[in-house]
Amino acid sequence: MKILFVVSELTPIIKVGGLADVAGALPIALRALGHDVRVLLPKYGTIDYSQFPSKRRWSRLTVTRPAGQATINIDEGRIPNSDVPLYYLDWPEMFGLLPNQSWAGVYYEQSGSAGYRKEMERFVSFSWAVPQLLEQIDWQPEVVHCQDWHTAAVPVFLQLRGYRSATVLTIHNLGNQGRWRADEVFSWLGLRGTELPVLSSRDRHGDLNLLQLGIHATDVVNTVSPTYAKEILTTKYGEGLERDLTGRVLAVAGILNGLDTIRFNPATDSSLSPTYNQKTAILGKRKNKEHLQRVLRLPVDPTRPLCISIGRLSSQKGLELVARAGPWLNSQRLQLVVLGTGLPEVEAQLSGFAHRYCAWARLQLGFDAVLAQLLYAAGDFFLMPSRFEPCGLTQMIAMRYGCLPIARATGGLVDTVIDVADNPKRGTGFLFGPFTTAAMISAIARARRVYDQPRVLAPLIARAMRYDFSWDKSAHAYLDLYAQAINHATTI
Ligand code: ADP
Repeated sequence: MKILFVVSELTPIIKVGGLADVAGALPIALRALGHDVRVLLPKYGTIDYSQFPSKRRWSRLTVTRPAGQATINIDEGRIPNSDVPLYYLDWPEMFGLLPNQSWAGVYYEQSGSAGYRKEMERFVSFSWAVPQLLEQIDWQPEVVHCQDWHTAAVPVFLQLRGYRSATVLTIHNLGNQGRWRADEVFSWLGLRGTELPVLSSRDRHGDLNLLQLGIHATDVVNTVSPTYAKEILTTKYGEGLERDLTGRVLAVAGILNGLDTIRFNPATDSSLSPTYNQKTAILGKRKNKEHLQRVLRLPVDPTRPLCISIGRLSSQKGLELVARAGPWLNSQRLQLVVLGTGLPEVEAQLSGFAHRYCAWARLQLGFDAVLAQLLYAAGDFFLMPSRFEPCGLTQMIAMRYGCLPIARATGGLVDTVIDVADNPKRGTGFLFGPFTTAAMISAIARARRVYDQPRVLAPLIARAMRYDFSWDKSAHAYLDLYAQAINHATTI
């Protein structure tokens, strides 16, 4: 099958969150199954191209817009450690390093409405370019696989051009939808808004909503875990799009993400000191913990469990529960390290917390892939009190490194973490239901008790590390989905 994977971020080239990890791994798994999968990514000015070589593949392609015809080149590289072709869409006006360099990152939603407008314009333009570029190159996909709101409008624009290809839209996070005033978006593209019925849809805010458009226009929609696929049909988790999702002819499928088990492997990870495997995990983790405690100037003490949390500091991740649990945590002889970056108010709250409890808590603000790996290796428990969680990769990486998740029972966390209390023989972590500090505290207290019983802890760590993280099963599920999309596209 010929598949074009269209995406806004990709590990290890440019990464903000789990979407990048999926983009860097699923195409490789599909390729291993014998499929001709290629990936299209914007050529961001912030990518370090000395590390990721590429060559010009197609020159001087054109894209029409009212602002004038844009001339675009496409460079070809490879997803690192694979032979999957990676096409960089070279459009400096949209994605290059501009005099105002803050525009050159991936997303700017946190930089206010001007930033968000710019972000909308560049991803609308990226999606707009896709069908026109496909018309001019000598490779045609049978399926175009779009990811999240950034490329959700691609199925609409393919239809507008009459381009015949099936489409799949994967929702990695319904919390971000790509909303803006319809008249302005149409003005960027020279559309009246009457060209297709779907263009007249508006969301509950009265905005044009790219994810909503995609949900209606694509052949098949899916999301990244079975539980989240059910949750998003409800008003509690549907973020205003539950009716759009429920109304689809083909139900929203839930396919769990896998992990890149070569990249995330404690036995070979050069960020660790030392590396370890299932057999040497207890000693290996203890040494990494000592190392980390020294680096972060925490008391070097193996009797204290080290809880870690890594992720975007957004309201989704629910770390305010941790901030509110300060007095209780303070009485527990444990340590806590949070690594993340995100909303200024969440950063400020956690920074106040870390300051107050500096005897045992640290906040590392920023994006640091090397420190993240060391933390997974050093950590005993991974805190993930998410409000909602489409799939979540951090808890899987944590398990792979023998760091046991303490997580809220929502979305993909339900599908990937088995609570030891529910299933002592298969359990890999600790789950709690209500989004409350009390519920989280009781899960941490259970974990704390397990930590003090090495005979219970060791098999749990081994079991967590043995969890099936591979992409293989999910890659097959995506192939079924592509077949479904092709079938749908040919019957409408
Ligand atoms: P989401 O996609 O909601 O951001 P996921 O759990 O699916 O969350 O994936 C997050 C990915 O990004 C993981 O690989 C995690 O290790 C990584 N990550 C998130 N924040 C940071 C950070 N501040 N530094 C390093 N890695 C990070």
